[in-house]
Amino acid sequence: MKIAVFSTHSYDREYLLEVAGHHQFVFFEVQLNIDTVNLTQGFDAVCVFVNDHVGANVIEQLKKNGIKAIALRCAGFNNVDLQAAKNANIVVVRVPAYSPEAVAEHAMALILTLNRKTHKAYNRIRENNFSLERLTGFNLYQKTVGVVGTGLIGSAFCRILKGFGCHIIAYDLIENPEMKTLGVQYVSMDDLLAQSDIISLHCPLSPATQHLIDAKSFAKMKDGVMLINTSRGALINTKDAISALKRKKIGYLGIDVYEQEENLFYKDLSENIIPDDTIARLMSFPNVMMTSHQGFFTKEALSQIASITIGNLDDIEQNRPCPNVVNV
Ligand code: NAD
Repeated sequence: MKIAVFSTHSYDREYLLEVAGHHQFVFFEVQLNIDTVNLTQGFDAVCVFVNDHVGANVIEQLKKNGIKAIALRCAGFNNVDLQAAKNANIVVVRVPAYSPEAVAEHAMALILTLNRKTHKAYNRIRENNFSLERLTGFNLYQKTVGVVGTGLIGSAFCRILKGFGCHIIAYDLIENPEMKTLGVQYVSMDDLLAQSDIISLHCPLSPATQHLIDAKSFAKMKDGVMLINTSRGALINTKDAISALKRKKIGYLGIDVYEQEENLFYKDLSENIIPDDTIARLMSFPNVMMTSHQGFFTKEALSQIASITIGNLDDIEQNRPCPNVVNV
């Protein structure tokens, strides 16, 4: 198959080419959107990532250009209009699971860094400042951690928390028996918000979960709560989070994803003026740690993403049933 890869970075090229086989890849650095969709002429498939825009208007053009498949090299598919793809007879495939531990471990990295302030200690020591003032952390042992969504990543995260001796409570639409055996206690969303010292989000973004965490949820949380989001930015109403940070309701905020990340993340904008005042306000808080959607970013995950993507394309090419098709 001839595949147009969008939002390409050096690592996408490296890992996809390692397992490409007979497939022919052409790599574009630009996002797929209505302005770039014409680049897909002469290809059989497109390969996209989290911030490409695959809405109805783009899909209409993809169909005209003869595209037969949209291969997401990620798990989330909130950026693809599935109904439009179905109508256009374009198959959508994804990588439903690739090293869930990668994201779970990143969530733990955010917790540990925010709590023990190792990022600040690192900078202080390099400037010969050996003071411990304002670096106080807290023990994770016996703290209550609320996990929203106990699918692949949420469960991997619970297993990590177990090792730290945390009391784990969870909310999910479907309870995971393996988690119950581990000692995770399922509670209502309201109880999770009220009881947790740390809340970590691991559910997908959907119309039902958009702004799952807003002013009303913050009102139910403990003062000084730590909130971690490695899932999707729009799970949190950012304006409400800023207000909660100002009122010290949120004691620590760790986010790997941000509602308006698509024009910022994965780009070096160090010499640019950032027009987004919301992210500027977020970064002004000393108790906010933000990473650029890098939870997935381990060697193991990149190599699984590449090989599963090739497997998906092989299935489509050979008209075999593909287990990773995303249906409406
Ligand atoms: P998964 O499908 O295995 O698990 C999601 C869980 O959320 C399921 O158990 C589901 O029942 C639950 N859920 C659905 N709606 C819910 C709701 N309203 N309230 C509570 N729980 C709900 O998915 P996963 O592999 O664990 O991934 C979770 C999310 O992590 C993905 O949707 C994606 O957005 C995000 N993700 C982020 C990165 C990153 O690099 N930061 C990488 C991969 C995935």
